[in-house]
Amino acid sequence: MKIFEEIESEVMSYARSFPRIFTRSKGEFMWDEDGNKYLDFLAGAGTLNYGHNNDLFKLPLLDYIASDGVTHGLDLHTKAKGEFLESLNEKILKPRGMEYMVQFTGPTGTNAVEAAMKIARNVTGQRNIVTFTNGFHGVSLGALSATGNSHHRNAAGVTLSGTHRMPYDGYLGEDIDTTVYLDKVLSDSSSGINSPAAVIVETVQGEGGINAASFEWLRNLQAVCRKHGLLFIVDDIQAGCGRTGSFFSFEEAGIQPDIITLSKSLSGYGLPFAVVLIRPDLDQWKPGEHNGTFRGNNLAFVTAKAALDQFWSDDKFANDVKRKGEYMTGRLNDIVSKYGEGNFTARGRGMFQGINCVSGELADKITSAAFKKGLIIETSGADDQVVKFLCPLTISDDNLKAGIDIVEESIREVCARADVIPEEKEYFPQAG
Ligand SMILES: *Cc1c(COP(=O)(O)O)cnc(C)c1O
Repeated sequence: MKIFEEIESEVMSYARSFPRIFTRSKGEFMWDEDGNKYLDFLAGAGTLNYGHNNDLFKLPLLDYIASDGVTHGLDLHTKAKGEFLESLNEKILKPRGMEYMVQFTGPTGTNAVEAAMKIARNVTGQRNIVTFTNGFHGVSLGALSATGNSHHRNAAGVTLSGTHRMPYDGYLGEDIDTTVYLDKVLSDSSSGINSPAAVIVETVQGEGGINAASFEWLRNLQAVCRKHGLLFIVDDIQAGCGRTGSFFSFEEAGIQPDIITLSKSLSGYGLPFAVVLIRPDLDQWKPGEHNGTFRGNNLAFVTAKAALDQFWSDDKFANDVKRKGEYMTGRLNDIVSKYGEGNFTARGRGMFQGINCVSGELADKITSAAFKKGLIIETSGADDQVVKFLCPLTISDDNLKAGIDIVEESIREVCARADVIPEEKEYFPQAG
């Protein structure tokens, strides 16, 4: 199809890595127009935690459409929205002892981040927000100012302001707790950094290269926020909705953020949807102050409710994610020690993992080789040096193994390590 070259903007990105025309998708698979089958380890960059077109959500969605349920409702109260809120409250918030108000923003992650930053600024009356090296929070200007990546920042066209950048966990080496530095600059009236409104942080940096903060660091960060009166915002857009093995990525750390952003896998079905969870006393919005035409994506309410009901009514799913995550950790560590020659490192938490290949060129060769073998997998990090494993959490054990086998085989090829013989495997039937 020449139409893409003819009139689609150069801004496209994923389409360059996977130059096929996709026609169908189901579970952990996608098919192109020539009938080739691909295992999907990109999964909407963390949007398809429950796989493509999951029947558990598709059937309620089709019923809802067939009965002419409200599709678009601005922020009107609809039955679908009410039922989503009930499930969120009963299945997620109450069992965790969490009390938050729910703000529906425009349906993208970046819009939720904008809203979160506005609330923090308006409630505290302070302007600046502490953000972290390699953080990614979206590309609208407010969220972009919190994002570290220069490729994205350089496209802003205006000065990005209103943030202070601090070193993330591990940025200065394993033994340095960077929250000590934050505490120090916030304590010193001559540090040049006075009274920020908030901190915004990812517990595992997705676009930044799968950097997982330690639980201790997160607890220390919260303590520094409490000590200096900063609001604590966790951007759980990519790490949340089960990716790390619990609904929120910060549960095991035992922290209580003041504000939480969720999007990506929240709708469960890949439908656009974002919310901000706000500590009740901070919900000081005036009616309509932050609005948006598409805050009432009722189709997403229907599928999001189904996702919460089906997967989060007990611990079964979370435990299964943890189990598969442990398998991934074992496999990735094994690959790193077999082929990495001391250069590669495995990183991440739960089913949010990656292999840091140090070189972006090498990582690209590996993902390109993997694509030829029928695996869709992308890179992340400042130099795109990290091969990022983001398969659906619902993936079967066999397909999880098969995908990792393909990455291993690709690394073996690219690193010309014919001397290391992996065990016999069968790949998916594939055209190149
Ligand atoms: C993807 C992402 C965003 C931005 O979401 P969009 O829907 O692309 O605007 C913000 N924060 C994090 C952590 C993300 O991964």
